[in-house]
Amino acid sequence: MKTYQGTVKAVPLSVWQHQASAPCSDSRLPGWLNDLPVCKLSVNKQIPAMDIADTGKHGKCVDAQARSHLKRWHKTFLSLLTQPNQNLKLSKSSRPTYGLSLAPSATSGCGDLCPMAGNCSHVCLATAGNGRYNGVTVARIAKTRCFAEHPELFIWAVGRELLKHKKKQNIACRLNVISDLNWTRKTRWLFEDALPDIQFYDYTKVAKYLYQDRPKNYHITLSRQEGRDDECIKALEDGHNVAVVFDTKPSQTLPSTWHGFPVIDGDLNDERWRDAPGHVVGLRAKGSARGDQSGFVVSSATHS
Ligand code: SF4
Repeated sequence: MKTYQGTVKAVPLSVWQHQASAPCSDSRLPGWLNDLPVCKLSVNKQIPAMDIADTGKHGKCVDAQARSHLKRWHKTFLSLLTQPNQNLKLSKSSRPTYGLSLAPSATSGCGDLCPMAGNCSHVCLATAGNGRYNGVTVARIAKTRCFAEHPELFIWAVGRELLKHKKKQNIACRLNVISDLNWTRKTRWLFEDALPDIQFYDYTKVAKYLYQDRPKNYHITLSRQEGRDDECIKALEDGHNVAVVFDTKPSQTLPSTWHGFPVIDGDLNDERWRDAPGHVVGLRAKGSARGDQSGFVVSSATHS
């Protein structure tokens, strides 16, 4: 019997709106996941390089229990990655784009996957699109539990799925669809050694990531946080790009500038690595972010 390090907490979708303390319940998770200990996800853990081309569908390089969890995972959820046609935003890119959708912020009970999240955690994109459906939320929590329990296996399996897709075509991948983990520090080998031909990209709330050395095939865009416009402006002046969420309606045009910096329409596609430097990536509020008054969503009326 393993020791539980975190609280067993599957957060109901309604908690997104209230941020109340969630009732502890695993009742919506597949039965086998209830046998999986909820471990604290150690974001400081270095995940050792593993050969993703290793033989065996469920990996000979990992222990038997981990392999058995992965087998049950694939049987229940088929794939760890969101397919290009399963996410509206990813589907708009001309290059087939795969995403990893974990449970954002602290909703998995395994730790905080968004260490710098502010008011966005109340109105996270997790509630937009397919995130409206309970089963999707459950699958994200389940994936995050697998990741926390078997990080090496999980990354290996993600890499293996990407390897399979990239054999057919040029692809892109967003590992932080609704999380904000520093992948390159812990799993740099995945980008540079295992999958150098894949274009990786992410949005992040952590400005210092912009200034850290990262693999050539990994692009990041800073995501504006309320009350931290100064660091966004500095990033723009330094030639980085910053995503800003406006209250602009879907049928309307975004403001042309934000604090004097040109705004491009980031809703047209998600190919952030193609954006010209020093631009604001304008996004329209989606899901429960519509109507947000917390400062996370910027009023388009205050910008030209
Ligand atoms: S940082 Fe991003 S993924 Fe995390 S809670 Fe905020 S909007 Fe959601």
